[in-house]
Amino acid sequence: MAGYGNAPMIDTTKPHSARMYDYYLGGKTHYEVDVQAAEAVVAKVPFAGAMARANRDFMIRSTRWLASERGVRQFLDIGTGIPTEPNLHQIAQGVAPECKVVYTDNDPIVLQYAQALLHSAPEGRTAYVQADATDPEAILDSDELYSTLDLNRPVALSVNALFHFVPDDQNPYDILDALVSQLAPGSFLCLTHATSEVNDPALAALGKEVEEIYAAGGTPLRLRTSAEVARFFRGLELIDPGITMAHQWRPDPAMPSELKENEPSMYAGVARKP
Ligand code: SAH
Repeated sequence: MAGYGNAPMIDTTKPHSARMYDYYLGGKTHYEVDVQAAEAVVAKVPFAGAMARANRDFMIRSTRWLASERGVRQFLDIGTGIPTEPNLHQIAQGVAPECKVVYTDNDPIVLQYAQALLHSAPEGRTAYVQADATDPEAILDSDELYSTLDLNRPVALSVNALFHFVPDDQNPYDILDALVSQLAPGSFLCLTHATSEVNDPALAALGKEVEEIYAAGGTPLRLRTSAEVARFFRGLELIDPGITMAHQWRPDPAMPSELKENEPSMYAGVARKP
């Protein structure tokens, strides 16, 4: 596959967000350095695993809802993460096998596992683009995207647990605008974003400490307020129930959250491009 010959090296000397997330979810694709950083977070935020699960379950519910209730058949998932079953295409193709899915991440370890991600239903298609979200043109202009998705038809763009890794000086709102502007009317945005804006002051204070743990590992983490998260949806029509905690967005009794009443997950929302 194109791009594999010059695959970037996996750095096992520093923790990485995708591998820490894999650890929170109980996966096996991480290194000692990731375990140490993730455990430092868990020591502060014991419900980090439940938070990650709630985020992942939002991806499952929002994808299923878009495929079954809104007839979406094309998906662009940026900041895909290490494959974790069920992956997005498995959900979408479980509703409609002809669904086409393009995955994107900048982490070489995700590239390494892309082969597993690319296992599409024969009626549909999956592709993988190794790119940095801060360079949206690299994604939009890629051959993989061009040959998989028809941007004249609606696409569901998902950026779950991605933009809190894009600091303000990298212009996260402009990045999202550049992506959404290329999508056809009737497209959708699914977004989740970590926050320290919670009712419990003791938990709110932890936000800074978690930002520091990520920063110490070389990953800037920028928790954002509800107003800052809402700004990502400007110009779009929020789907009911609007921006909620991930585990409260169209909850499904079949996937109950382990989070307690005062424990936040992430802000989450789905919106339609008019
Ligand atoms: N979207 C998945 C995984 C979230 S973990 C889910 O919600 O379950 C966050 C992912 O974003 C990681 O895989 C990390 O590698 C990726 N990521 C972080 N910054 C990125 C960037 N600038 N460009 C592309 N991917 C990025």
